[in-house]
Amino acid sequence: MVFSYYKKLSTAQKRIYHKSDEIHAVPLPDGKALHPLIPRLVSALEHEDRDRTEEICRALARGLTSRLGVPELRLKVLAVRPVTGSEELHGLYELAEGRASAVIFLWMRTAKHRRVVAFRSFLRTLLHEMCHHLDYHLYHLPDSYHTEGFYKRESSLFHQLIPEE
Ligand SMILES: [Zn+2]
Repeated sequence: MVFSYYKKLSTAQKRIYHKSDEIHAVPLPDGKALHPLIPRLVSALEHEDRDRTEEICRALARGLTSRLGVPELRLKVLAVRPVTGSEELHGLYELAEGRASAVIFLWMRTAKHRRVVAFRSFLRTLLHEMCHHLDYHLYHLPDSYHTEGFYKRESSLFHQLIPEE
């Protein structure tokens, strides 16, 4: 299955798309050592503690980058999700492009009711943005597309951090 935007891609872009689509998992060495961070993240979100949420997300991000041998990145947890058109932004990945490192932005409150985002969807967003980082730095893809393979990699990381799912 390919996503509808595939038709609009150039031949070179389609090549990147297929490479991305072929990788289904991200084996995480010693992922277990990161498990204690998960209940801490649940609690930080429950307490609506932005600072602590950010600190734990940074520890998770460092845990992933160091295990996978990719450059570290900066991570910011912000309050209310920005809205563009009818879409709420959950997270954002920005390439380094001249800066010292790439940046991930995560928002912990929904735009509509300003409620704290559910834990699972928050963790998925973090892993989603991490997968963009891995596309560039682990798989050395010139671009990072949302392919079926991309979403499988996101799930692969999710299940290694939350194995009972
Ligand atoms: Zn994305």
